[in-house]
Amino acid sequence: MKNHLAIVTCFLSFWSLGQTMQLVADRIFDGEGMKEDISIVVEGNRIIYAGPSDEMRIGVDTIVRFENSTLLPGMIEGHSHVLLYPYDQTSWNDQVLKESRSLRAIRGSKMATRNLMAGFTTIRDLGSEGAGYADVGIKRSIAQGIIDGPRMLVAGKAMVATGSYGPKGFHPDFEVPLGAETADGNDVISVTRDQIGKGADFIKVYADYRWGPNGESLPTFSLEELKLIVQTARSSGRDVAAHANSPEAMRRAIMAGVVTIEHGTEATEEILQLMKDRDVGLCPTLAATESIMKYRGWKKGVDEDPGSIVLKKRMFQNALDIGVKIIAGGDVGVFEHGDNVLELELMVEYGMNPLDVLKSVTSVNARTFQLNELGAIKKGFLADIIAVEGDPSTDISNLRNVVFVMKDGVVYRDVRL
Ligand SMILES: [Zn+2]
Repeated sequence: MKNHLAIVTCFLSFWSLGQTMQLVADRIFDGEGMKEDISIVVEGNRIIYAGPSDEMRIGVDTIVRFENSTLLPGMIEGHSHVLLYPYDQTSWNDQVLKESRSLRAIRGSKMATRNLMAGFTTIRDLGSEGAGYADVGIKRSIAQGIIDGPRMLVAGKAMVATGSYGPKGFHPDFEVPLGAETADGNDVISVTRDQIGKGADFIKVYADYRWGPNGESLPTFSLEELKLIVQTARSSGRDVAAHANSPEAMRRAIMAGVVTIEHGTEATEEILQLMKDRDVGLCPTLAATESIMKYRGWKKGVDEDPGSIVLKKRMFQNALDIGVKIIAGGDVGVFEHGDNVLELELMVEYGMNPLDVLKSVTSVNARTFQLNELGAIKKGFLADIIAVEGDPSTDISNLRNVVFVMKDGVVYRDVRL
């Protein structure tokens, strides 16, 4: 182990010299399609060539060949929570109520590393779930090189309407810490600004929550409140992502101008059409739904699909038929960090073409999150590049066989060493 680390360190410092490296594999997914006989050349943290190998006229210092492999842009996780871990290990309530912020931050930093090693060089982390701005701290620790991790877009505390969010079920006189920050009426403006000031790259709002009389998902914020949040965030160059499962909450969030809807379980065809018309992304978090059902005892392939999965499959198929922009994001944290590919496998299982899934987790996510130099293997783009064994366009699970991870021109994983 020690020797292995020494070689990696040596390799990394070699890279800091800014030499050129040529990457060659059987095939390359460049963010749009699968290509053969393509070479990539990286210098420093940039891709300086991506094109036919036989037309390359650049002298390189090193050539790295991957056998039976595919090169791809670093994957982009659309919906993560590094400050959460699977609820079958510790319930969400107990994570929020019983674990100190320092413990959560230290665990979260390890979880961030797992995302990177699984080939996800960027993650959009949608809320610290009661851990304040620990996500901002983790992001900065990565940027400063204190820990290894992906690029992070963070939401900070996230925003909920008073009375809607958990943890719940306590004596009414007992104030418990919540999983997000409350705001109502015009106060949503100051809370949005405060979250931005404290490091939020995205504003995450809960446009509905399970606070109906029978625990059903029903809208929380009014259309006017959502509009104020979006206008305030947009003014600072930031976008808003909305948690929404019920059609009315989705409609309000779409009309207010959010960039993505998270979950979307009960979306009607009319709502999906509205998303298509307004170019709003759907992040379906299929893996979270399946994982929660498994924690409740559902045995996939043995038991019948529970209602929430039947609903999700139908909604997802409708979204594909209508042509809604699909964001790849599993709500990882609800299930194991590092197992992010589970969402991509379920997208294929629920009817999406593997090549479209590859686009979703690279170029579509990049464009939607305004990451203009990521998500594609293209001259001038940042050198976030991974290699996996096999061809993920024929079997998406090959994305689990990560053999190489480069972020910003630095190699973090290379199983050949
Ligand atoms: Zn989430």
